[in-house]
Amino acid sequence: MTDCLFCKIIAGEIPSAKVYEDDKVFAFRDINPQAPTHILVVPKNHIASANDITESNADAAAACFTAIPKIAAAEGLTEGYRVINNCGAAAGQTVMHLHFHLIGGCTLGEKIV
Ligand code: AMP
Ligand code: ZN
Repeated sequence: MTDCLFCKIIAGEIPSAKVYEDDKVFAFRDINPQAPTHILVVPKNHIASANDITESNADAAAACFTAIPKIAAAEGLTEGYRVINNCGAAAGQTVMHLHFHLIGGCTLGEKIV
């Protein structure tokens, strides 16, 4: 997608602090970290949100979840971490390219669920 921030980051058109990449997944540090470790795990395919996952593109979402344990291990998150997805404007999604926040590196506070 031409006018998508994360597509531009994946393409290298906008710089990022990359921590992981494979054929389906790109992961980089959040520019505004909410914890000592705050990484965005995104599918390389443009999928707007979790609400747009279908049978035909679910492999991209699955690939994010197989990458997450590898990234967590590389980051030394042995005590646990949180994975968050904001889906849609009312949930606080600001970048309309599916992404999973991988957050850890400290004892995490209040949780919603
Ligand atoms: P969300 O609010 O769930 O859509 O998350 C979007 C995230 O993208 C926020 O946590 C932002 O801090 C992060 N973000 C926005 N622009 C950049 C960027 N250029 N590089 C890294 N992270 C970014
Ligand atoms: Zn995109």
